[in-house]
Amino acid sequence: MSLKSRTAVVTGSTSGIGLCIARALAGEGANIVINGFGDAAAIETERAAIEKDFGVTCAYSGADMTKAADIAAMIKEAETKFGSVDILVNNAGVQFVSPIEDFPIEKWDQIIAINMSAAFHAIRAAFPGMKARNWGRIINTASAHSKAASPFKSAYVTAKHGLDGLNKTVALEGATFGITSNCISPGYVWTPLVEKQIPDTMKARNLTKEQVIHDVLLAAQPTKQFVTVDQVASLALWLCSDAAAQVTGANISMDGGWTAA
Ligand code: NAD
Repeated sequence: MSLKSRTAVVTGSTSGIGLCIARALAGEGANIVINGFGDAAAIETERAAIEKDFGVTCAYSGADMTKAADIAAMIKEAETKFGSVDILVNNAGVQFVSPIEDFPIEKWDQIIAINMSAAFHAIRAAFPGMKARNWGRIINTASAHSKAASPFKSAYVTAKHGLDGLNKTVALEGATFGITSNCISPGYVWTPLVEKQIPDTMKARNLTKEQVIHDVLLAAQPTKQFVTVDQVASLALWLCSDAAAQVTGANISMDGGWTAA
C-alpha cells in the first residue's frame, strides 16, 4: 500500500496510540499533522523524527480538542498546507475515574468534549474536502468501553458509545463518496493513559498497583495481555488500504476477547 499522495491528521498523537498510528501512516508515505499536548521540545523531537525516518512532511498543530474553533482551524491549516485532508484519525482521549455521585462536572464536560465532540468537529470540517475528492478514511479510536461499561467511568463509557453512533452516521453519509468511517476498539493498551488511571483506580477501589493491573485492568481481558500500540496502528493502516474499501460503519474490537464475554 502507498499513501504517498495522502495527508493524514491524527489527533492526540503526541504520545501513545496516536503517535504510533501517525508513524505507521508516515511509513506508507502520507504527510502528517500531529496534534496534542506535552513538552514543546519533546513534541518537536517526535515531529522531526517522523520527517527524518520516513521522508514525509510532518506538521504539528497545538489545537485544543475541547475547542471547536481550534479543531476547524487545524483542518483548514492542513488543507492549506498540504492541499487535502484524506485521512482523519480521531484519537485524542482522556480518562477520569470516579463514582458517579462524586464525578466532577468539569471532568464530565471535558471527557465528552475531547473523546466525542472533537470527532464531530473534525469530521464536520474535513468532510467537504473528502466528498469533493471522492475519497476519505475516518478512523475513530473508540474502546471496548464503546461496547461495554465498567463502573466509575461514566463519562468515558458515554463518550465512547456516542463516538460509535457518530461513526455509523458518518459511514452512511460518506458511503457514496468513497469515504469510510470506522471505529477501532482496543481493550487495554499499555500507554500513558492507562498508566495515569492506576492511582485513581487504586483510590476508588482501595487496591494496590499490582491488584489494579491484574485484577482490574486485565481482569476483563481474557488473553491476560495488554494490546500493543503497534497492533492498533496495523489495523488503522489496513483500514486505509483498498482492501478495506467496503469496511465502513464498523466498530472493530481489538481487546483480547473482552467484549466476547
Ligand atoms: P495518551 O494519553 O498516550 O494519548 C492521549 C493523547 O491525547 C495525547 O497526545 C494528549 O496530548 C492528547 N490530548 C489530551 N487532551 C487533549 C486536548 N484537549 N487537545 C488535544 N489533544 C489532547 O493515551 P492513549 O492510550 O494513546 O489514548 C489514545 C486513544 O485511545 C484515546 O482516545 C483513548 O480513549 C483510546 N483508548 C486507549 C486505550 C488504552 O488502553 N490505552 C484503550 C482503548 C482506547
